[in-house]
Amino acid sequence: MEQMMQVTEVMERVKPNASLRGKSAIVTGSTSGIGLGIARAVAMAGANVMFNGFGSSSDLDLLRQELETRYRIKTAFSGADMSNEDDIARMIEDSRTAFGQIDILVNNAGIQHVEAIETFPVSKWNAIIAIDLSAAFHTIRMVVPEMKKRGWGRIVNIASAHALVASPFKCAYVAAKHGILGLTKTVALEVAEHGITANAICPGYVLTPLVEKQIPETAKARMLTEDQVVHDVLLHAQPTRQFVTTEELGELTVFLCQDGAKSITGAALPVEGGWTAQ
Ligand code: NAD
Repeated sequence: MEQMMQVTEVMERVKPNASLRGKSAIVTGSTSGIGLGIARAVAMAGANVMFNGFGSSSDLDLLRQELETRYRIKTAFSGADMSNEDDIARMIEDSRTAFGQIDILVNNAGIQHVEAIETFPVSKWNAIIAIDLSAAFHTIRMVVPEMKKRGWGRIVNIASAHALVASPFKCAYVAAKHGILGLTKTVALEVAEHGITANAICPGYVLTPLVEKQIPETAKARMLTEDQVVHDVLLHAQPTRQFVTTEELGELTVFLCQDGAKSITGAALPVEGGWTAQ
């Protein structure tokens, strides 16, 4: 609820800009956190948006109605589970039915688990690889043919600073995020002559439910208090000593989708307050 209220406040502050009018986007994992911020930014730039994720609510319905009215766009929602290939195919088909075409694909859905490798649950490894990595392989292979046909497309993968550097106790996440960077570069090369770009955004810590959940897990793994985790682990990684915001990530995504970014492809774009410059 609080996240949705912030959304309305941001919409009051930010002037609409119609740079993506006529385009249609899918943003996976957009019921919360970064995906929600990106979906809102893309909608505010005039694109139709397919929302996806768990925990859809009347707040999300209200937000969608507000975006539709205010920015004269269409929105839709799919509860597809990104660990399930058939669900992913249905979400792609539902997007085509709702909007006619898919121009922008943002692979954002993701989960995390923090634990030492000796006791890391195999089920968590499998789920993280499926949702944080394999889902992007499926969505990309399903939308690239139509993007190629139209000679235009934008693929934005929400990787992580953990696509560039590792941290202990995050074996599955770091493996999946390094993997999605490799996938991004490979796809970028394959589609480079078709007006399609593929890039990875590598955020540092953003205070979303995903990070809030890992604070007690990290405290246990590192034998620290939760306050120490926030200041001595999370914010310590980022020289700015500040969390990155979902609005920053939304604005960068919109920029990557514009024609001015057509030569940016295969890139890993760090948005992490200087973390990986150290
Ligand atoms: P979040 O928990 O706030 O949101 C995750 C979203 O993914 C939710 O909408 C959730 O419903 C959805 N989701 C989870 N499992 C799903 C599944 N099986 N099928 C469909 N949807 C599913 O997390 P967030 O922090 O906003 O993370 C979003 C992305 O950003 C993730 O890929 C994460 O790895 C990445 N990221 C986050 C941070 C951070 O500090 N928060 C930093 C770097 C990268």
